[in-house]
Amino acid sequence: MNTDVMTSPLNVDAIRADFPILARKAASGADLIYLDNAASTQRPDQVIEAVNLFYREGYANVHRGIHTLSEEATAEYEAARQTVAEFLGAGPSREIIFTAGCTAAINTVAHSWGVTNLGAGDVVLLPISEHHANIVPWQQVAARTGCRLQWLPVGDDYLIDSQVVADALETYQPKLFAFAAASNTLGTEYPVKRWTELGHQYGATVLVDAAQAAPHHTVNVRDWDADFVVFSGHKACGPTGIGVLYGKEKLLDAMPPFLGGGGMIHLVTRDGFQPARLPEKFEAGTPPIAQAVGLAAAIRYLQSIGLDRIHHHEQQLCQIADKGLRQIDGLTVIGPAPQHKSGIVSFVVDGIHAHDLSQSLDLDGIAVRAGHHCTMPLHESLGLAQTCRASFYLYNSADEASRLIDAVKTTRDRFL
Ligand code: PLP
Repeated sequence: MNTDVMTSPLNVDAIRADFPILARKAASGADLIYLDNAASTQRPDQVIEAVNLFYREGYANVHRGIHTLSEEATAEYEAARQTVAEFLGAGPSREIIFTAGCTAAINTVAHSWGVTNLGAGDVVLLPISEHHANIVPWQQVAARTGCRLQWLPVGDDYLIDSQVVADALETYQPKLFAFAAASNTLGTEYPVKRWTELGHQYGATVLVDAAQAAPHHTVNVRDWDADFVVFSGHKACGPTGIGVLYGKEKLLDAMPPFLGGGGMIHLVTRDGFQPARLPEKFEAGTPPIAQAVGLAAAIRYLQSIGLDRIHHHEQQLCQIADKGLRQIDGLTVIGPAPQHKSGIVSFVVDGIHAHDLSQSLDLDGIAVRAGHHCTMPLHESLGLAQTCRASFYLYNSADEASRLIDAVKTTRDRFL
């Protein structure tokens, strides 16, 4: 794609003005080009100010005090839950559980639904491209219950064919099929609705890790028909320390609480406790109150720009970066063709360690991620120890994508 003629659906200059950190200069004096959005995004003033205002004027603990501040804080916290429910297209807001992040949300499912429903010989089916957050909790459950993990391989084109998924579901008859809506390393966007339908056809419960999806395009959990969906606030312009577990009410109702303590009980006696109803049952202790307020502000911000326009913009940047990088001698893009992905381009350069490459890009003010990106089984299956990853978001420009390509070329020349 010729970047000169690319017309973004977004007014990137106006968006950038909302993000104070983007005005920072790199140590070299170069403009900061932040391309580590798959790890964590930056926050606009609208989110920073919402959290600031809440702490300055509206903060108290929730669901506890019978005083005005606590009642106001509770109302704001529950309004944030409603905002998330609508953002995800969920049913009643009690289907939304606030957690510490995507990892904590998957652990909640694993250590509640998993240990209750999985037993010796049962199978959990996972793509090999999963993030460790959707691997290790199931390995822990396997060690406890005797269930086992089976893997879906990634093809030579870095895709997973739906027929391969159907065959694996038929062969292994998994009780759980858990997969990311989009791979955080390959960038691949998997066909969530189709895979969920296939999983259900073979009797599996389906968990979708939407960490790299919910921040980037419209998600509708009821259209997907997924049983559980998780994502993190900090990857969607929201605060750190908050994530979301969506679960179908019937499933969440039947699950035992994972963490015990204050807030998650209806009654405690010396002999035992009765859990609270949803959603409190899964929110032991003081929840991430200000973070929920910030997440709601982030969602409103993303919605004001338009999730589908953000997605279109990221696809354009991804195409520019993917095409330009592939033209560099000795560089291999680790991921499918651009039409199968959005926003993420991983790559390796012959003879240059990913850490050296990333450090060299940093000198030019370009922040990318180098390493295994918490996908060690994927890297191992591809015979790679590490990759470099550039990941784009709504505030990145076509010019930044071009400058990435130029800087990788310069680095290559510098090293070889
Ligand atoms: N799943 C995917 C696909 C991710 O990319 C990440 C983070 O990179 C996670 C899960 C874990 O998210 P968190 O660290 O916010 O819990």
